[in-house]
Amino acid sequence: MKEKTIRINEIFYSIQGEGIQIGIPTVFIRTQGCLFSCSWCDTVYARDFEKGKDMKVSEIIKKVKKYPAKYVCVTGGEPLLQKNVKFLISRLLKRGYNVNLETNGSVSLNGLPKSKNFLISMDVKCPSSKMEKRVDFRNIKLLKKTDQLKFVLKDKKDYDYAKNIIKKYKPGCNIVFMPVGGTNAKKFAENVLKNGLNVRVLIQLHKVIWGDKRGK
Ligand code: SF4
Repeated sequence: MKEKTIRINEIFYSIQGEGIQIGIPTVFIRTQGCLFSCSWCDTVYARDFEKGKDMKVSEIIKKVKKYPAKYVCVTGGEPLLQKNVKFLISRLLKRGYNVNLETNGSVSLNGLPKSKNFLISMDVKCPSSKMEKRVDFRNIKLLKKTDQLKFVLKDKKDYDYAKNIIKKYKPGCNIVFMPVGGTNAKKFAENVLKNGLNVRVLIQLHKVIWGDKRGK
């Protein structure tokens, strides 16, 4: 039988720079291809489906095992556009890894593992991304308490949008506010305190440490 393959952009070892697992040494598996074109996308190189290379799931796991990490982040691009990504996630979980899936929220989250070692990190794209109409909000109900909903914020319009989405859908999971560009969170932090929102305001730690360096 032909082995399952996934189109991969890159695999690298770094510090998790975003969300509730911030700071944890992690292997990143970046899949190739995305249907969005967020105005501030910082991984443009991972969007074109023609680029990257097909790798067998066994090859991907072999590469992951070279690193001394217990955490793996499957990111993109948009990982869920490739049907074999769910298979990869289940294999990683079976091997004892903690797995974090980063998704742009456009593909249904139905049928993903329920393991306590599996974290779904779903983005809600705000108006400055120009992709806000592409998010499937039915996915919010499918998130576990331990998952996370991430809002990348550029300005006050984005902040107000995020606040309204939280009010409307009442997510039961962790909620993260993060500034576009990764580091300038002051105005959002002040508004969160002023409005008493039950969210985390986080920066992108890898950008503080390494700047915009690719593969970090
Ligand atoms: S969803 Fe992610 S990879 Fe796709 S365009 Fe937006 S930021 Fe870039």
